[in-house]
Amino acid sequence: MKNRVERVFSDLFPINRSLTGRGVDKTFDYLLNNFPLHGEIKSVPSGTKVFDWIVPDEWNVDDGYILNGAGEKIVDFKESNLHVMSYSAPVDKIVDSDELRKHIHTLPRYPERIPYRTSYYNKNWGFCCSHNLLESEQFFPPFKVFIDSSFNSNGNLSWLECVKKGLTEDEILISTYCCHPSLANDNLSGVILASFLFEYLSKLDTKFTYRLVVLPETIGAISFLSQANTNNIVGGMVLSCVAGPDKLSIKEGFDANHFMNESAHLALKSSVGREYLTYPFVPDGSDERQYSTPGFRIVTPSIHKSKYYEFDEYHTSADDLNFVKSEALLEVLEVHKTWINLIESYCYPKRINAFCEFQLGKRDLYPKIGGTLNQQAHEENERGGHNRLFKFEDTVTINGAHLEAFHWLMHLADGTISNFEISKKSKLDISVVNEAIAAMYQKDLLELK
Ligand code: ZN
Repeated sequence: MKNRVERVFSDLFPINRSLTGRGVDKTFDYLLNNFPLHGEIKSVPSGTKVFDWIVPDEWNVDDGYILNGAGEKIVDFKESNLHVMSYSAPVDKIVDSDELRKHIHTLPRYPERIPYRTSYYNKNWGFCCSHNLLESEQFFPPFKVFIDSSFNSNGNLSWLECVKKGLTEDEILISTYCCHPSLANDNLSGVILASFLFEYLSKLDTKFTYRLVVLPETIGAISFLSQANTNNIVGGMVLSCVAGPDKLSIKEGFDANHFMNESAHLALKSSVGREYLTYPFVPDGSDERQYSTPGFRIVTPSIHKSKYYEFDEYHTSADDLNFVKSEALLEVLEVHKTWINLIESYCYPKRINAFCEFQLGKRDLYPKIGGTLNQQAHEENERGGHNRLFKFEDTVTINGAHLEAFHWLMHLADGTISNFEISKKSKLDISVVNEAIAAMYQKDLLELK
């Protein structure tokens, strides 16, 4: 698995991606050929009005360089695709130092790094390079600047959309963005995690339907939302920056009590206890900026490892294949699998009979003195229930923690309190609460909503 993650990273990293163009198409082809996504590529034509925005012309770049006064190539797109500003206009002329400096972006604070810059909605030409180059003896005029780029007003903006049908129409949106060129953590890691996560999902019987979108950030999400039927979307997640060296973290969705937030926190807790960082929701960052708006109100937390804005290598050439680690991505993948399983368990248990305690002993729900009881918690959907909770393959051993959970369930299960809230109120692990719900459901003591 580790080797596979590394191979996908190294295959996709060199591709020059942007909002539109051949790099994005190539990335989608690769994902469709290497993962069981069964997705479809959707697109809107350049110039289409999507809500308050206009889809930009399709942009492609084939070459770009700067020659110094001696005719030496001092900047070369073929060495790093970050050298040409994304959506740069074409240029082919001789310029002096003053003019060139107006079109060059550097990072004086990190003089050896190349910054990542874009000019999507403002037509201009530009290069990005190390600050050291500007200070070096190689930097002398007259300069020849050349960028072989093109804008196609008959082009398209595309995204990849994949659907995994569940037992219900209720949908969970999984969104990630593919518009960055050779930058590894932000956000090639998100694209790769999404692909492995969807591969995992494709093998599960799920209650929810899952919709994956891999799209250019902002304008791609806006384009998708302008076409999508979002009525069935009950929650989502934005996958971004998931393979860096820092602690696990969560950027919460806008409604802290939403089940997507609660399940994300529970997944993190069950993986690393309290050893993770929490960033409360703010309306900036990635595509939660679109999903959270009043017309949609889709709650989309993100679980990160080295979140955007929080690492120095962000949007520079130092966010490369050495910065990300396959082990980190695999750790985040495990957390996301746990998250999916918790989302699937989300329910509102309600006692069949709300009066007084149940007599647990006569139903074999009481741990026996000197031993435990094996409770098979597997059940088909006989009652038309759609809950994966009852597809445990393992035998659950009823123990003292379950007994505590039975007491809390007898107290709280009135159909208005979710299993996540019951776990919080009782301070019992969600897995114990879910097992106790499963056992009580099997004994016809609970119904689930
Ligand atoms: Zn970014």
